[in-house]
Amino acid sequence: MLQYPEKIDAIGVVDSDWKHPKRVAFEPRTFGPKDIDIKIECCGVCGSDIHAAAGNWGDLPKPVVVGHEIIGTVVRKGSECTSEFEIGQRVGVGAQCYSCLKCHRCLNNNESYCDKCVTTYGQFFDDGYCSKGGYASHIRVNEHFVIPIPENIPSEYAGPLLCGGNTVFSPLLRNGCGPGKKVGILGIGGIGHMGLMFAKALGAEVYAISRTSKKKEDVFKLGADHFIATKEEPDWAEKYYDTLDLVIVCAGSLKDVDFDSLPRIMQVGGRIVSISVPEQSEKIVLKPFGLLGVLIANSHLGSIEEIKQLLKLVSEKNLRIWIEKYPINEANVNEVFERMEKGDVRYRYVFTDYDKEFN
Ligand SMILES: [Zn+2]
Ligand SMILES: [Zn+2]
Repeated sequence: MLQYPEKIDAIGVVDSDWKHPKRVAFEPRTFGPKDIDIKIECCGVCGSDIHAAAGNWGDLPKPVVVGHEIIGTVVRKGSECTSEFEIGQRVGVGAQCYSCLKCHRCLNNNESYCDKCVTTYGQFFDDGYCSKGGYASHIRVNEHFVIPIPENIPSEYAGPLLCGGNTVFSPLLRNGCGPGKKVGILGIGGIGHMGLMFAKALGAEVYAISRTSKKKEDVFKLGADHFIATKEEPDWAEKYYDTLDLVIVCAGSLKDVDFDSLPRIMQVGGRIVSISVPEQSEKIVLKPFGLLGVLIANSHLGSIEEIKQLLKLVSEKNLRIWIEKYPINEANVNEVFERMEKGDVRYRYVFTDYDKEFN
């Protein structure tokens, strides 16, 4: 019998020892008529999980339950839901769980830029409830933010598309990635590795930009046509002068990104778009003259519509991101956090076996 429990079981951060999250149980937000309850099957591990768990985005009420690359099944629908979801259907939830759905931004597929945007964990609803994510048995979400998953994408491979994947897909789409375009992906980690695949699938000529050549073999397998190792090719900015139409900066931190040299490799009108969500204190320092003719921007989460487009692309082209699976439990969350902190990931962790841990 599918039903929603009164308390949600989870693995969450309970004190300053954030690398050792513990089994916890918490009360869900009050069920609303537009809400859908989901029993979680697996969840990807995003860099944001580490930031939020470690307190880099501020001190959050405990337990801090992270995870926003969620796949599960619908177990309950509110009385005013108009979506086509059926009980038992496989669905996903990405990094956003709420917005006003009425403002100009929401009505134009920019709900992730809504002033009332609530991210799937670590942000507050108007009633003061702090959102909690997918390292948990269940999640309760407004139906607008529930996404149907195409049948031919296995759950573990679908989860990471919902945040990491869409975060790089959105600026690719919005900035003209496609045939005839030269597109760079800077920072080949969890999100960057997906960026290479999607830019290629969209038809662009793809440049992987990394500091060293450690990941050189991987990037060509992932779809890159060219590889630039900025630490190993001192003249890279001159060698690739006036080449790229678009660069998506996927580095976890912007501290090591060379924003003085990067505009040199851009064509006039070229765009540098960062998706990095670094520590709150970080700043970008730019020399205005270096930016002549080049645009620079920061991109937020993609829209729900873009997630659906991405899932369609992945389904049609049968793309498979590179993942490493871990059954969810206290010890494994600890191990994954430690490995994420060291950057030891190729290229996305996914927590699985939820039934074993949470029954
Ligand atoms: Zn994320
Ligand atoms: Zn809105």
